[in-house]
Amino acid sequence: MATMTDEQKRVAETTATEVLNDTFGSIDIVEFPLDLSAVADKYGLTIKTGTFEDQTVSGAYDRAGAAIFVDSDESLERQRFTIAHEIGHDRLHKDVKTDLLYRKAIWQFADGTHPKNETQANWFAACLLMPEEAMRRMWKVTQDIEQLCTFFGVSKTALSYRLKDLDLVGK
Ligand SMILES: [Zn+2]
Repeated sequence: MATMTDEQKRVAETTATEVLNDTFGSIDIVEFPLDLSAVADKYGLTIKTGTFEDQTVSGAYDRAGAAIFVDSDESLERQRFTIAHEIGHDRLHKDVKTDLLYRKAIWQFADGTHPKNETQANWFAACLLMPEEAMRRMWKVTQDIEQLCTFFGVSKTALSYRLKDLDLVGK
């Protein structure tokens, strides 16, 4: 993640942990796949599913309307990541009033042109859906990628980035 500083990563991770503690009482008792509706409820956010006129859009966020929009044509795993990304904007970026998340923008962090807020919202999403301790615990139980994806409710792409970020597999 060339476009994001260690401090921005730390803030994203700390905030994700706070969100889990706030929503479920303790990060230690969170069940997976993470109940994103519970998180949205906690912060008064409504999740709306539908399709976008612009086919390249995966999701959107509207702070004034306290709403997250997600493309129901995409895989459930992707929809979950999108929701977590938009919750990231809600929690991290008070200056962000609206957001449009473009499909191709997810996880393209090598291009250097990616706005920091977007990369940070993705980092938050990964930390929220796959908290470090739970990942390390599950990695000891199984290293079967399919099983881990099912357990966390994430795509293979999101899981493999998280495994690399946590140095559980080589970069
Ligand atoms: Zn965004």
